[in-house]
Amino acid sequence: MTNQPIQEEIERLRSLLRSYGEAYYDEDAPVVSDAVYDATMQQLLELEKEHPELVTPDSPTQRVGGKPLEQFEKVVHTSPMLSLSNAFSADDLRRFDERVREALGTEPTYVCELKIDGLAISLTYEDGRFVLGSTRGDGKVGEDITSNLRTIRTIPLTLPTNDSFEVRGEAYMPKRAFERLNEGRLAREEALFANPRNAAAGSLRQLDPKIAASRQLAVFIYALGERGTLDTIETHEEALNHLESLGFPMNDERRTYHSIEEVIEYVDRWTLERNDLPYEIDGIVVKVDRFEDQEQIGYTAKSPKWSIAYKFPAEEVTTTVRSIELSIGRTGVVTPTANLDPVLVAGSTVQRATLHNEDYIREKDIRIGDRVILRKAGDIIPEIVAPLVEERTGEEEIFYMPTHCPACEAELVKIEEEVALRCVNPSCSAQMREAIIHFASRHAMNIEGLGERVAAQLFDEGLVHHVADLYELTKEQLLTLERMGDKSATNLLEAIERSKSNSMEKLLFGLGIRFVGEKVATILSAHFRSMDALMKATEEELVTIDEIGEKVASSITLYFSKEEVVQLIEHLRTVGVQMTYDGPLIDETVETVFSGATVVLTGKLEQFTRKEAQQHIEGLGGKVTSSVSKNTTFVVAGEAAGSKRTRAEQLNVPIWSETDLIEALKEEGVSL
Ligand code: NAD
Repeated sequence: MTNQPIQEEIERLRSLLRSYGEAYYDEDAPVVSDAVYDATMQQLLELEKEHPELVTPDSPTQRVGGKPLEQFEKVVHTSPMLSLSNAFSADDLRRFDERVREALGTEPTYVCELKIDGLAISLTYEDGRFVLGSTRGDGKVGEDITSNLRTIRTIPLTLPTNDSFEVRGEAYMPKRAFERLNEGRLAREEALFANPRNAAAGSLRQLDPKIAASRQLAVFIYALGERGTLDTIETHEEALNHLESLGFPMNDERRTYHSIEEVIEYVDRWTLERNDLPYEIDGIVVKVDRFEDQEQIGYTAKSPKWSIAYKFPAEEVTTTVRSIELSIGRTGVVTPTANLDPVLVAGSTVQRATLHNEDYIREKDIRIGDRVILRKAGDIIPEIVAPLVEERTGEEEIFYMPTHCPACEAELVKIEEEVALRCVNPSCSAQMREAIIHFASRHAMNIEGLGERVAAQLFDEGLVHHVADLYELTKEQLLTLERMGDKSATNLLEAIERSKSNSMEKLLFGLGIRFVGEKVATILSAHFRSMDALMKATEEELVTIDEIGEKVASSITLYFSKEEVVQLIEHLRTVGVQMTYDGPLIDETVETVFSGATVVLTGKLEQFTRKEAQQHIEGLGGKVTSSVSKNTTFVVAGEAAGSKRTRAEQLNVPIWSETDLIEALKEEGVSL
């Protein structure tokens, strides 16, 4: 086989990385997230590892990114300012440790530091005076930004000693300063900076030092570069401590360890606590402590072999959409779901992501075959952020929703004001199957042992067509199901029997009437106390009940007006299912995730109006207020959410996306 296609793929990845790199390093305005850049770099590294003969010195894997801007004086670094190789897991760190121990033949000491997300700088001191400050540039030649760096107050201009040496560190913009800067730019309608790193880099790479002076930049020194007169220092830790005593701004979180497992504990701790810091970090840097050991281990062209940067698990990753699958919910809504190449995001593997509806797919322009950015919204629900349009090959397929139900072939309809397509055939097999699953679920009839799998099996095997059939199942029938043993069958029959004596609200919720969630089911049951009384209620009567609106009322009367529903209720009654309520008169007892919660809605919601969202939340015992305070339980931030979101971040108030809200409402049994 020829290497031609591989060579082409390698070239494609290189050219992508070069264009991402240019935007990031040279223009301080990245076009993709770091996670996308890192994933692309990993792909290239793997291909080059398999085909070392194709590695060229100009590959982005071999070079430190960036080039010095023309308008600055050039500074040739005495020793190159390198990049760092990356670790993405504890095992990567263990492998690094093995390599280090192999190279040294002894047990190393490690210094762990926070990886500050800013830009690398070099500061040269001569006879105790700051004389030259530069950027990393391409690693060999950087930009002279001395006058900009002089404006950073924590950089000492003179030292208490007459030493001559070079230090290296990271210039960064604290989170608060970044927010203020962008708020000002927004007000002046100027382009926003993507993140504090780019804001810091953009501020220091300005010819007018007044700009840097106005930007509240800060610095942490993380290494002694050229040792100069400090050449008696033998370890990195000692160097950092000495620099601290000379008045340099050092980071207090650095720690020294004697085993890689301790290093991993440090990494784990900061993975959880990184957001509490007033500045951004994107990982942990691990360095071999003794200078002599460092020299012995050596360097590659791009990075030292004695150090590694652990990168925090990405909350955004890339993957490929393999296919788009349709599922039909119990209310007939047809939902497209993307099947993805399995990918690790924020600590768990994701293979599917909901695409909600056709409008959503169209708006984001997601196609089958696309490489996409995937994120875990609120760290729970996977969401496709956007396709990587520039990576399209032309083979991607546009997806269209079908006109007919994939399960029963009835024509799909779009109900007014709704984006979703629905199958309105009441005997659609997919809906009936979902209805059985819902009926048995915990918040409804709570039939233990009748989870999604068994419920689906019963339906697919033709043993249960309607929920009432559950009460006529025999042990012999159950034993015909795959993976159903004698014990499970007995337990299941007992659980079905027990469910007969549930109070009415469980049955009412289990019937899956549109807009009748758990709370509404309880209110109605407490009010009418029997199914018969409820079935006779008129719309006028229903709307007089607190918390029952017109939409709910008309959905209930419509439901009970159907002949097949009347028959179903009769069937349930005949098999012995309780039709009365035995709870308290007014029921405040249903505990939901919204009970007692104070919620703020901000930004533009897609699936419902704010008013509707508010009604749902209040229906489940929550309160909706307009301003964020530390008493806010959570903020739901829609599209283009602004200052309320920022305020929530500052106060550490959890932020939910609209998708989180929808999922939580569904969890509480709200039919949307
Ligand atoms: P790097 O970020 O992987 O690591 C090296 C840098 O870490 C050093 O130059 C130094 O500036 C910094 N650093 C921070 N704290 C440190 C500490 N305590 N000790 C030592 N160094 C510390 O290197 P890189 O080569 O600059 O950049 C590659 C990374 O930049 C990528 O992994 C990616 O995340 C990002 N990037 C993103 C894009 C994009 O388009 N989004 C493009 C290019 C690069």
